[in-house]
Parts: sequence; structure tokens; C-alpha cells
Amino acid sequence: MPATDFRIEEALAQWQPRHLVGGELLAQGAPFGVVDPSSGEVFAECPEAGVEELDCAVSSARVAWHGWKAQPLEKRRAVLHTFAAALEEAAPLIAPLLSREQGKPLSQAEMELKVSGTHIRHLSSLPLEDELLRKDDRGAVVLNWRPLGVVGGISPWNFPVALAMHKVAQALYTGNTLVLKPSPYTPLATLAVAEVAKDIFPAGVLNVLAGGNAFGAGMTAHAGIDKISFTGSVATGKRVMESASATLKRITLELGGNDAAIVLENADLDVTAAALARSAFYNCGQICMAVKRIYAHEAVHDELAVRIAEKARALKVGSAFEEGVEMGPVQNRMQYEKVLSLLDDSKSREGATVLAGGGALDRPGYFIAPTVITGLDDTAPLVAEEQFGPVIPIVRVRNAEEAVERANAGNLGLGGSIWGRDGARCAELARQLDCGTAWINRHGVNDSDVPFGGMKESGYGREHGVMGLHSYMELQAINAIPPGN
Ligand code: NAD
Repeated sequence: MPATDFRIEEALAQWQPRHLVGGELLAQGAPFGVVDPSSGEVFAECPEAGVEELDCAVSSARVAWHGWKAQPLEKRRAVLHTFAAALEEAAPLIAPLLSREQGKPLSQAEMELKVSGTHIRHLSSLPLEDELLRKDDRGAVVLNWRPLGVVGGISPWNFPVALAMHKVAQALYTGNTLVLKPSPYTPLATLAVAEVAKDIFPAGVLNVLAGGNAFGAGMTAHAGIDKISFTGSVATGKRVMESASATLKRITLELGGNDAAIVLENADLDVTAAALARSAFYNCGQICMAVKRIYAHEAVHDELAVRIAEKARALKVGSAFEEGVEMGPVQNRMQYEKVLSLLDDSKSREGATVLAGGGALDRPGYFIAPTVITGLDDTAPLVAEEQFGPVIPIVRVRNAEEAVERANAGNLGLGGSIWGRDGARCAELARQLDCGTAWINRHGVNDSDVPFGGMKESGYGREHGVMGLHSYMELQAINAIPPGN
């Protein structure tokens, strides 16, 4: 066993995962098993919080809110920057845990933790000021942005820490307090981060509890929570919206995507193939805004497919702690079976050709070979639905117009991209894509100052940027009579 793997066993033997509630670390709740996707075996136990712990966390967050929202913005920013630095410092300690529960290579887990620190710093540096709407003989109107109160954050298992930290930064910077629930598949690294946060934030400002799906449903129905910031699947997002309606909670939903990349006849194939392969296979294809289908002009389709297949074959697949590994397993059995079933269906279709990969690896755990498949049309579920795994279909199209029409079909609209040498043409096509972010000659770039979210069933509202911060706030218009009246 490699040295890093050994150290994590030792560390786990000494470390007890605990919830952070009201500034205290608690191990309440029956333990549930956390599975290592590289082996398919339970490697750690985590306490599962229930209704009582949720009530306690919400009450603590409510009490803490009054003090936290009264802090000047600069003070909240400074505390978040201190937290970002502490998180970056703790990255080497927490990364093995993140790798172990999520499956991603150790270097990528370290990167996720470091990038989380950067995002916290950037999000909590955005300008956040009242706006003077107008001042004239009708009076002065100021738009006053106020925190909502207690936010409930619910996160998924693909980037457990990064996606949770986006919520921490946005909710706390805007003067709210937070009750955060990581995915039950990957609760441990987020609980470890909560320990780092414990003495940095005043008690109750940040609460982190490991809980299952029922716990999440409890949050969405809880009368003491004012907003839900949810990242996860479309199906669960719809449940969140329905449940939140009983108390008219504010909601932001960051949901699934089936991003299309459209490759034009004049695209730079070297650059395009490398970038598309990176997007399709990074994090084992488990990224909401990964390229999930490629529509390639018939003039470049074959060459592009060959080049992407070469990249796929060259990827070193293995467990997080193996030397030089670039792609790990699918994170959980359910997702692994879903991706394999999409692949089996695709392979059975007339005209389908597997250019790289094509199935599960013959080893324990949830490993699937990076797979490139051509010859499918949009009736194949692998093209029409979100696969969320390391299998990319490349589809031949006659022209860009056809590609845009096919990219826009379907219920999802998170992201999309256009690849070509003519900037004006690319920009014109990008505007025609029905998605929250349209990239040109890049895909999946996600900056803290740029509002991010989905059209159609890919989401509701936006996170990031000042617009995203405002979604954690309530707008009050202050309307004063003109002076002298
Ligand atoms: P999921 O919907 O199964 O679970 C997400 C979270 O919701 C988990 O913490 C889960 O415990 C909780 N949950 C489950 N049922 C609930 C309920 N009834 N009420 C409240 N919470 C509940 O999603 P997942 O499988 O963990 O994540 C994968 C999905 O997330 C993919 O579709 C992916 O595209 C999407 N995703 C979207 C973004 C984005 O920013 N748009 C980012 C990452 C992942």
C-alpha cells in the first residue's frame, strides 16, 4: 500500500467525524458507513444527524444571525479570508480524506481544497453596496440589500468541499448564517473542514451536519430556514422547490446539465481535442458543466474523434493514491450502474462504434474506462440525457445550424460551447444556445465574479457574482420625500 494511503488509515483511526452545531463538535446519531469507491467497501463510519440536531442547528444559527448580520461587511470579509487561509493550510491533511471518500486522485483533491480557498476569498471580495436608484424632485430611492436570515445549504458528492464552500462564502459574506449538509456519500472531508472553521466563526454562524436525504427534506420544510441553496440532481431539485413552497422559502437550484460542445469545420483540432477530452474525463466526467455530448461538423468529425480517443486511452485510471493516476472511479454504485447501462444501450445501437474504452475495468471498485463512442443519434439516452460519467458521445452534424438546434433540444440548459477560428461566427452561435453559460473555445470555466446557473430544468436562479450574492439577500426599497417637503 502506498505511503499516503497508509497515513490516512492512521489518521482515520484517531479522527472521529462530528457535526458542527452551535460552535460545538457533536457525534450524535447512529453511524452509517462511508464507502471507498476504489474498493466498493465501507472504510469509515459517520454519525447521521436527525430532527433534533437539525432543530438545534437552526436555533443556533438564528441566535447567531443577529450578531453576525450586525458586523460591518469588512469584518465578515476579513473572517472569511482568515477561514480561506486556514482551509488552504489544512489542504494537505484533508485531501487524502476527500480522495478516499470521493475517489478523485490525490492531486485533484488537493486542488479542490486550494481552489475552495480561492473561491471563498474571491466571492467575499465582491462589492456589495446599497444602490442609489435615483435622486430627483420626486425623492430619493435607495435599494437596500439585506441578509435573509438562516440559509440551508445542500451539496452533492462530485466536488463535496468546493461546492459546499461556495455556499459558505456567499451565505456568510452577505450576513446570513448557514446550516450545511454534505452528501451522505461524501460527508467526511466537509466535516473535517467544519473543524477548521470551528474557532474562526462565532458559534452558530456555520453549522455542518452529516445527514441523509430525509435530513435534506427536513431542511427544505423547516420553518426556521429562510432560503435553500441546493446543488444536485434535477429530480431532487424539483422536490426541493415543492417542499420549499410551504414556507415560501427563497431557493437557488444548481442542477444537472447535458452540455453540448459544437465543433465547427475550421476549429483548431489540436486545442479542441485536448480541451474536450479534459472536460469530458476530469473528475471521471462527474461535473455538472462537463462536456457531455459533442456535435462535430462532418468535415472534422472523424479526425476529432480519433484524437479524443487517443487522449482517452492515454489517461491513467486508478485509485486516488496510485502514482501518476489521472482519473479515479465513479463515486458510487448507483451512478456506476447508471453509466454502464447507458453505455450498454449505446453499444447495442446500429452504427455505434467504440473508439476507446467501452466498459468497466476488471478490478474491484467502480472503475469505468474513459470511453469515446461515435455513430449515435439524439434518440440514444447517452446523448439525450446527462450521463455524469467518463463516457463521451461524438455526433456527426452537417452544419452549425443543425448542431445548435440539436444542442437546444431537451430539458437541460446549463452550459454549452462553440469551437472555431472565426470569433464573430462563434459569438453569433453562442448567443443562440439555450444555456446559462455559453463558452467560446473553452468549456467549464467558472469564475467567482460571473453569475452561474442553468436555463430550463438545469436550475433556478444564479450563484456567483454580485447577482449570486443578491440571491442570498432581500431587497428593500427606501423611498424618501424630496428635501424641503
Ligand atoms: P442528489 O440530488 O441525489 O443529491 C444532492 C443532495 O441532495 C445530497 O446532499 C442529498 O442528500 C440531498 N437530497 C436528496 N434528497 C433530498 C430531498 N428530498 N430534499 C432535500 N435534499 C435532498 O444529487 P447528486 O447525485 O448528489 O449529485 C449529482 C447531480 O448534481 C448531477 O445531476 C449534477 O449535474 C448535479 N450538479 C449540479 C451542479 C451545478 O452547479 N449546476 C454542480 C454539481 C453537481
